[in-house]
Amino acid sequence: MPHEAPPLTKILATLGPATDDRRVLLKLVEHGAALFRLNFSHGGIEEHARRLALVRSVADETKKPLAVLGDLPGPKIRIAKVPAVHEGIGIRLEAGQDVLIRGNLIESKPASPETGGLPVLACNYKKLAAEVDPGHRVLINDGAVRMLTVVSDGEQLLCRVTTGGMIISGKGLNLPDSELSIPATTEKDLLLAAWAVENGLDYLALSFVRKPDELRAINECLHRACSIVPNAGNVSDIPVIAKIETPQAVKNIDAILAEADGIMVARGDLGVEMEIARVPVIQKLLMRKANEFGKPCIVATQMLESMIENSNPTRAEVSDIANAIYDGADAIMLSGETAVGKYPVLAVEMMRRVALATEESLRDQNQEPKPPARLREARERIPAVAHGAWHMAQDVGAVLAVVWSQDGQAARYLSRIGFRMPILAFSTSPAAVRRMSLFFAVRPVLVAQVPQHRSDFARIADWHIIENALAEKGQPIVLLGGKPFDEPGATNTAAIRFVGELAGSE
Ligand code: PEP
Repeated sequence: MPHEAPPLTKILATLGPATDDRRVLLKLVEHGAALFRLNFSHGGIEEHARRLALVRSVADETKKPLAVLGDLPGPKIRIAKVPAVHEGIGIRLEAGQDVLIRGNLIESKPASPETGGLPVLACNYKKLAAEVDPGHRVLINDGAVRMLTVVSDGEQLLCRVTTGGMIISGKGLNLPDSELSIPATTEKDLLLAAWAVENGLDYLALSFVRKPDELRAINECLHRACSIVPNAGNVSDIPVIAKIETPQAVKNIDAILAEADGIMVARGDLGVEMEIARVPVIQKLLMRKANEFGKPCIVATQMLESMIENSNPTRAEVSDIANAIYDGADAIMLSGETAVGKYPVLAVEMMRRVALATEESLRDQNQEPKPPARLREARERIPAVAHGAWHMAQDVGAVLAVVWSQDGQAARYLSRIGFRMPILAFSTSPAAVRRMSLFFAVRPVLVAQVPQHRSDFARIADWHIIENALAEKGQPIVLLGGKPFDEPGATNTAAIRFVGELAGSE
């Protein structure tokens, strides 16, 4: 078990075959993974159910509020099942080779006399051959394999490979030159949303968002799922993260942020759908916007790509993680590194080490915080109290911020203000506690009872801090709350307290 405290930046690890061993998952948690992603684009529902159960049982064992995010495929075109013909994993294509692509097959086929001597790739978009014209690019696996359409006959595409590589099941297919009429949410999304509701997932992410309407559509889809799933409760309550990976989404980012519960900078598709050289510029823009709206932001894809094969990262990857943290990421995500990589534990450990080193330098900079502009403009109470609490914390050299946050909103606001210290956020709601795991610096704490008085809350917080050795007796902290504690939006006071002396009555 690492002795260092977990980083303030949250580590989101994608689940896959490499994390199916309980001991591996336990190690990821020990090294700081706070959230896990089920990538619904790969694998079947039984696999997802098994992985979800494993995370929930590791959460019980470690007593950590681990959150699980379900990543909905959305209107993303994917390669259907590919037989493991080459290297035991897929079909290898070489530059210069011709290949057929069809939208009306459920399985890809290797070259054979029956296929006219050409490999046939199947994908999940029936109108493919009707909407892709000769000359249009076809990019697979975030553009790693590239081809040009030579013939489109309404039934299938004949393409010539320009950059070869391995094609495996479930990889994304991008058509940056084609006008597609693909719908925003698919039948598969609806079924998966119903499953997410039924199984109590903590977050959903939606791939390939283009406009805010699509987020409204997924919320409607959640409502429909509610009508299918008995006793699902308030399903629209599952927060939805918009994956930003298309030029349209970048253009509509303000409207999307107003609708979404957070965003993911999905750099894999972003670097294919847009000019790859602009990815860093767009990443900075998206993070600035998310901060402005006070919404969480996840930076994803290829953060430690080389660690899929190697036990050490490149210097560029380490710098990339640090820069994402400097720019205000709530969470940094691992994809293949943990799902299928050779070194999932080392990858999480590396993220933790880089995050801790970066956060130490951020603490030294100790900049005056900028409360999210949109929240300030709205003149809301909690952001104002949180802003004041930040100044109080600086003036007394507080080591912790502590808040009662029944539904997670106060914790989210505090997280956005610029605290460079842990924010302990208490609630009696297991779902809210798990969801708070996403917010920068927030360490959610589940307790059994809602306090009646501020002095009760002070006692609970004091006990928790001492019991878990989170600070030393006599060190200052700032404590935020409001009555009634379990009413959303009640936070209206910030007080300076000293560890070990918190139990005074009010
Ligand atoms: C991405 O494109 O960067 C991404 C996170 O999405 P996916 O893993 O679904 O390709």
